[in-house]
Amino acid sequence: GEALLEVKNLKKYFPVSKGMFKKFGDSVKAVDDVSFTIEKGDVFGLVGESGSGKSTIGKTILRLHDKTDGEVSFKGRDVFALSKKELRELRTQTQLVFQDPFSSLNPRLRVGDAIGEAMIEHGLVSKKEVRTKVLEVLEKCGLSSYHIDRYPHEFSGGQRQRIVIARAMALNPEFIVMDEPVAALDVSIQAQIINLFSDLQREHGLSYLFISHDLSVVEHLCTKIAIMYLGNIVEFSTKEELFDHPLHPYTKALLSAVPIPDPTIKRERIILKGDIPSPVNPPSGCKFRTRCPLATDICAQKIPEYREVQSNHFVACHLV
Ligand code: SF4
Ligand code: MG
Repeated sequence: GEALLEVKNLKKYFPVSKGMFKKFGDSVKAVDDVSFTIEKGDVFGLVGESGSGKSTIGKTILRLHDKTDGEVSFKGRDVFALSKKELRELRTQTQLVFQDPFSSLNPRLRVGDAIGEAMIEHGLVSKKEVRTKVLEVLEKCGLSSYHIDRYPHEFSGGQRQRIVIARAMALNPEFIVMDEPVAALDVSIQAQIINLFSDLQREHGLSYLFISHDLSVVEHLCTKIAIMYLGNIVEFSTKEELFDHPLHPYTKALLSAVPIPDPTIKRERIILKGDIPSPVNPPSGCKFRTRCPLATDICAQKIPEYREVQSNHFVACHLV
């Protein structure tokens, strides 16, 4: 397929200014040499525990953060070398949807105004036609004229997330970063919202970077999955390959927590000990070694190379 977003050796470090971590080092290595490509039409899942650097990647590729090192290009253009005009274009072509739909909506703006304002600001509609266009996009997201003159607080979490999606869709984006967009919703509502994402993606030929701490959330939506641990991608493949033939011990542990609908298939639950270590002072060698059930001496001494072990299946582990 056609590359939409290319990320090469991306690093994003945050300085540590004071406090207890200062003695360990000068920076938080939130993203520490990450490479991946999203092709047009991909639903690319980025999965890992909180603190692994997923959100930082999402913001950096949209140029909401500066980079520390590496390259990011969107539609063949270096996103860190855009002109003002190109950056404005990027702000409509790409969108970010967060976990908490309440904090991302202005409580004093009516739903219709919140959506219409963005369209007018980017010159996508005239004042005269804005209401019709807002209604169109609301309907696309499973909402109606009932919502247009009301305020965000009048709605449930699921409805508010639909409003946030509608506002993103109003700008006709090609690529959306979804950062844990259903994590704050009731399980019963999550599936409806995931279905909406899936419908919008198909109907509009969208591409997503879908960030989640939960593999079961991405299972039915994503075409490709990257597993992150402490600033690195440790495994990447197609959804099918990753679910059927996981290679990295961390992926296997995450997968063991995904419920299987078929009761005749048994998967042994792998419980990892401890928490994800601090990215200021990560373990030497393989960063996962302090929690890996298979760690050996070499794991503390050598950083495992992230390499393609089968066609389109990448992994970083000494034992693979
Ligand atoms: Fe575990 Fe060693 Fe593989 Fe790291 S390199 S995942 S510690 S076996
Ligand atoms: Mg996050």
